[in-house]
Amino acid sequence: SVKRRTDERLGFFDAAMSYAVTERLTLERSIKDALKAGQFELFYQPQVSLRDYELVGAEALIRWRHPELGIITPDKFIPVAEESGLIVPMGQWVLREACRQMRVWNDMNLGRLRIGVNVSGRQFHEEGLPDMVAEAIADARIDPTHLDLELTESMLMADGEGTLKMLRALAKLGVTLSIDDFGTGYSSLAYLKRFPINTVKIDRAFVKDLDQDEDGRVIANAIISLAHSLSLKTIAEGVETEAQASLLARHGCDEIQGYMIGRPLTVADFTAFVGSYTAQGRGTVPRLKTGQ
Ligand code: C2E
Ligand code: MG
Ligand code: MG
Ligand code: MG
Repeated sequence: SVKRRTDERLGFFDAAMSYAVTERLTLERSIKDALKAGQFELFYQPQVSLRDYELVGAEALIRWRHPELGIITPDKFIPVAEESGLIVPMGQWVLREACRQMRVWNDMNLGRLRIGVNVSGRQFHEEGLPDMVAEAIADARIDPTHLDLELTESMLMADGEGTLKMLRALAKLGVTLSIDDFGTGYSSLAYLKRFPINTVKIDRAFVKDLDQDEDGRVIANAIISLAHSLSLKTIAEGVETEAQASLLARHGCDEIQGYMIGRPLTVADFTAFVGSYTAQGRGTVPRLKTGQ
């Protein structure tokens, strides 16, 4: 009967639901244990200037080095960490660890690299965030101007006054602020002018489109022009090919990050990468004049 089939479907739905809930709780427990056990690790992905291909910084990207499963990428655990609130202690660990690593690299005279740290929505709404950042900087004795905090559009659009207050408190510390995944969230551009933001990170989706057709190029170019007209720097994410890099350079994009330069690397690999990297061998790319 129809009723019976509905009941069965509902029964199945319940079972699937509780399985999902159980799985989520298990993952939540595991993340908590992993934080205590020190199984999280930061990888670093190089960022270079498109002007001369000099290495300018790195983005810190979290990985879970699981004793049985190996390396787990953030898409598998950040959403649950975010929902459960575990992102707050995790994010605090990330910030302190990135600052500590910068101190180590400074002591090694590895050059004055800027490090980008991702901040989650939940963290951004923690009143204590500016104090926490200030403490991480002070404890590691690093130059705050070399720390860049990556925020997303959706975070900034949530509530006007609270957002502005938080951004001002963070900017006051001397750190720089970036908008990550630019172009994928709300498309309100008004906030770009209102908020003390330094950099726009052009999402990989637009970089991918560069190779495809004229529309892709028009959009990337529009984002770069808009950012520059508001005195914001631009970094393109997910640059995989020389063709993409050269198109971005011609449109005046400031920096790139992506597999073409390097994947996210362990501390040891990144340190070796910095030691062996030379901007030479890469020609500088002529830029288009405005309007072209
Ligand atoms: P995101 O901040 O936009 O980071 C860029 C992502 O693009 C990274 O994925 C990176 O590995 C990947 N990527 C970089 N270059 C290329 C490329 O050329 N091609 C392709 N296909 N992908 C590229 P990952 O490391 O898996 O991180 C995914 C997202 O997880 C990040 O996106 C960020 O939103 C979040 N995340 C990572 N680490 C943290 C963290 O410490 N805290 C928080 N809250 N979120 C984090
Ligand atoms: Mg990021
Ligand atoms: Mg991004
Ligand atoms: Mg992204």
